[in-house]
Formats: sequence, structure tokens, C-alpha cells
Amino acid sequence: MRPDRLLLGGFMVLLLVVPVVLSPYYVTLLNYIGLYAMVALGLVLLTGVGGLTSFGQAAFVGLGAYTTAALTTATDLPTWLAWVGTSPWLTLVAGLLITATVAIILGSLTLKLSGHFLPLGTIAWGISLYYLFGTMQSLGGHTGISGVPPISLFGWELDEGGEIYYLIWVFLLVAMLTTHNLLDSREGRAIRALKGGRVMAEAMGVDTARARMIIFVIAALHACASGWLYAHMQRFINPTPFGVHIGIEYLFMAVIGGAGHVWGAVVGAGLITVLKQWLQDWLPRLLGASGNFEMIVFGGLMVLVLHRAREGLWPILRKLVPVRVAPKKIDANAEALPRRTLPQAGELILEAKDVTRKFGGLVANNNMSLQVRAGEILALIGPNGAGKSTMFNQISGVDTPTSGEVLFMGAPVAGRDSREIARMGMSRTFQHVKLLPTMSVLENVAIGAHLRSDKGVLSSAWRLDRTEEARILKEAAYQIERVGLTEFMYEEAGSLALGQQRILEIARALCADPCLLLLDEPAAGLRFKEKEALGELLKKLRAEGMATLIVEHDMDFVMGLVDRVVVMEFGQKIAEGLPDEVQQDPAVLEAYLGGVD
Ligand code: ADP
Ligand code: MG
Repeated sequence: MRPDRLLLGGFMVLLLVVPVVLSPYYVTLLNYIGLYAMVALGLVLLTGVGGLTSFGQAAFVGLGAYTTAALTTATDLPTWLAWVGTSPWLTLVAGLLITATVAIILGSLTLKLSGHFLPLGTIAWGISLYYLFGTMQSLGGHTGISGVPPISLFGWELDEGGEIYYLIWVFLLVAMLTTHNLLDSREGRAIRALKGGRVMAEAMGVDTARARMIIFVIAALHACASGWLYAHMQRFINPTPFGVHIGIEYLFMAVIGGAGHVWGAVVGAGLITVLKQWLQDWLPRLLGASGNFEMIVFGGLMVLVLHRAREGLWPILRKLVPVRVAPKKIDANAEALPRRTLPQAGELILEAKDVTRKFGGLVANNNMSLQVRAGEILALIGPNGAGKSTMFNQISGVDTPTSGEVLFMGAPVAGRDSREIARMGMSRTFQHVKLLPTMSVLENVAIGAHLRSDKGVLSSAWRLDRTEEARILKEAAYQIERVGLTEFMYEEAGSLALGQQRILEIARALCADPCLLLLDEPAAGLRFKEKEALGELLKKLRAEGMATLIVEHDMDFVMGLVDRVVVMEFGQKIAEGLPDEVQQDPAVLEAYLGGVD
């Protein structure tokens, strides 16, 4: 048996016997840990993996708790609604539906916010919902709702701590399993790609707005389920545990435990709950006075952990237990992903016609025209500030020309989003590499195949996507081999040298099965040997029929490599032709010798 499975099995057995061997006090503590961990797990996904900070999760816990408490205790509900209140299982469904609806509304209002505006937004709605619970008299105001019935399961009433304990931990373990599965899938990579920046993710075909909404709703649903369990465990609720200060504590749990790791949620929830209890019991005795000393020490400890263990405690714990999970096997028998038919060599793929882009009074691109044909490498060169990157943005659809147009495969690029353009067969790399440093090379490259497959969240969570996943990984492995990075396939992308990271980006772009590669300054910052390797790779790809547009200011790099060159200066085209011709051109010599290079 794999050692990691053995550990997990041991943990399960331990969980199973706990209520039998431990006193009710500890069982209650474990119940709370399970409930908190479920909320923290949502934050692992939302904040740790997706990079979206929310202080408002406690409000979703409240939604779950209040929905079930209100419906199961109400006596004067209209008949069409009364049947929902007859069983906590029905109110769970109702709570999840309400929470999903509220999350979608709140998400569409706040998720577009960036930087510190998003966390502030979550505080704002966290406060609103909290006061809503306390103010609505039908929800019992600040006194809350009592008399919540216990949950029953096949006629068995879970009305003791040691009974609902099992339900709580089953919920948590299922949530952990599905979250783990989700992260290890196409959708999961799309979610993880959010941290690589919107531009990168969108260029790889990821709908970032959708991915953000998905994790926001999932995190809210986890919180709601926790609230549902809480209400039926306590049998009584009031607004206090659903305020923003508790929302902050959930965030602490996720971050301290290790936001970004499924087990981090359990470690964080466990540590913080136990520590608080312990400090609460011991500090007053040690100090001989009563007071909330635990919060003071607690705050200090949090700052310490944030200083010493940025990634949280889970990665540290993992290192202590020398269990390594074997890297994923590539299934050589997996069916290949469908490929597009490449255009015939010489066919016109990309055409920029009189593209002008003005920034206020500055004309960054002035009447620029160029063409790329199938099977050729075209270089767009020019000194720094010539307008190359601006032109690159017009071509890749990131920006729209003031006048003129860009046609790709005969269709205008303007007005389409990056995803559509990627789907049409244009794939790019970035001047400043944008990859996910802690993800393996294999998984980074696999992001490129996003648009070539379509399994969603539910099939990923329940592992119904494995055939497709095998196809994606096989494709990624093939592209890695194609660019010559096979020996680094399982390394973390961040551990590669810059030259290799650039090549990784090319593999990722190739994974999208493009007919045109756009490379923005691929040689920048590379050492001589690395430039040579890159040049060899591009020649090999050309021989395989790939069309490539390189934007570059390093003239030496492109000269021995490309088929044709377009030279820009001050936003204009000053020369175009074969590398040798262009090199002799007086205007080009003047631009380069007079320029920085
Ligand atoms: P290159 O990539 O050739 O070094 P760029 O296309 O980045 O050149 O820049 C060309 C000119 O356009 C520069 O003068 C730059 O300052 C200006 N520029 C580029 N982007 C913007 C922008 N978003 N707003 C204003 N000016 C810009
Ligand atoms: Mg540039």
C-alpha cells in the first residue's frame, strides 16, 4: 500500500474511535474543529488557491444556520413552504440554494474588484448580513432561534455530540476529497491559473470571471453546510458566531494551516481551536487574574507564524513526515486530443493592415502593416520604445487599434476576447514569464490544453474526468518532449532557469494546438547557450509547419533564425525583407547604432 494512503487510513481509524475513547469535552472540541475546518477549506480554495481574500465567510455560515433554524422551527409557514421545514435534509438543500443565489449576487457585485477593494467588499457584505440576522424579528433578533430539532438519519436521531460528530467529519472528509479532486483537474488548473494573472489565464482560454465565481460559490456552499450542521448540533442559534470578527478567524485558520493545501484547513482549524481553548483555560490561572488574555497571546502568535511560515504549517508538517507521493504517470495509451488541420505552407495566416494606435498625443504604432504566412518565422524588431509591444497587443487582441485592422485566419481580431482568439489558433508567450512557480512543469503546460477539453467542476470533483485528464496529460507530456524539457517534467516550474521557463511557456502555448505562435521578446535575459537552444527549437517547430511571429529587440538573435524581418522605429515600419537585406539597410543601421543597442 502507498505510504500516504496508509497514513490516511490511520487517520480515519483514529477519527472513528475518537468518540468511544475520548470524553465528551474533546468530542465537542473535535466537532467544532470539523465545522471550522469546513469553512476554512472553502477559504483554502478561494484565498489560498484562487488568491481572492474574503473576510465574509461567517455570513454564509449564518445563512446555512438561519435557513435551517428558521424553517425547521417555524409554525406558521404557508403550505407550499411548510414541507421544506419537515426535515433538516430538505432545509439543507434550501440553504445551499439560497446561499448559492446570494453568493452569485454578491460575487457578481464584488469579484470584479481588485486589490484591497475585494476584501473590503467582503467585509461590507459580511457586516450587512450579520446585522440582517440580528435585526429581523422573524429570525429572533439578537436572542436568536431555539428549539432547532436534531438531524435524523434513517430514523437515528443525532442528538448527542458523539453522534453528530460522525456526520460532521463525513461532511468534512467528503468536502476535502472533492476539493482535492477538483484541484487535480482541468478546472482545478484553471482555478490555480488565476494566480498567474488574468492576462495569462485568459490567453490560455480560461474564463477567469467564471473561475472566480466558481470558487466563490463553492466556498460559500462549504460555509453554508457548516452552518447547517452547527445549527443542528447546538440546537439553538443567535447572530454572534456569524460576525465579521469570526470571518477574520476563519481566514486565520486557512492561512495558518496553509492556504492552498486541503489539509491546511484541518491543521489550521485544529490548531487555532485547541490553542484558544488551552490559552483560555491556562492563562488566567498562570496570571492569577481573569480576562481575555488568550486573544492577546493569540494575536502575537499569529504575527509570528505569518513571519516565520508564510505558506502555513501544513507544508512544514509534510516535510517532517518523509512520505512522497509518486508523480503522476502518463498513460501512453490515452487517446490523443483532437488536432486542428494546419494551414498549407505559404498560406496567409495573419495580416495587419495600416494599424495605428495612439495614446493621447503619442503615436505608438503608425500605419503598421505586416503579414505572416504558414510555415514561416517573421521577426518584428526595433530598438526599445519603437512600439513593438504595442503592435503585439494589437495583433493578440489585448488592445484595439485606433484605426486599421488585424485579420487572423481571415477574421478580424478586434472585439474578440483573448479566449476566442486562442480558440482560433493564436497562442502566445509573455515578455515577462507568467507561470505558476509551485506547480510542476507538466501541470503548467497542461493549462495550455484548457480549450481542447470541457469537463467541468462536478465531473472533476467526483473523478468522472479521468479519461479526459489522461488525454490532457499525455498531450502536455508530448509538448514537453517536443521542446526538450522531458527531464524537468515533474520539477516545480519556478526551479527552472529563465531560459527553460521561456521554453516551458512555448510548450504551454503549443499545448493549445495553435497555428500561429506569438513570442514577445523570447530572448530577453537569456544567456548565449539558452538563446541557441531557443533558436534551435524555433527552427524545429518551423520545420514541423508552425508559423511564428517573434517580437524582439535582439537583432543578432533573429538574424540567423527567421525568414523575414519587419523593422520598426518610432512606431513606424522603416524596413522589411530578408534578414541579410535588412541588416544592410542604412535606416536600420542608423536606428540600431543610434539607439540603445
Ligand atoms: P517596445 O515594445 O518597442 O519597446 P512599446 O510598444 O512598449 O515599445 O512602447 C512604444 C511607445 O508607446 C513608448 O513610448 C511607450 O511609452 C508608449 N506606450 C506604450 N503603451 C502605452 C500606454 N498604455 N499608454 C501610454 N503610452 C504607452
Ligand atoms: Mg516591448
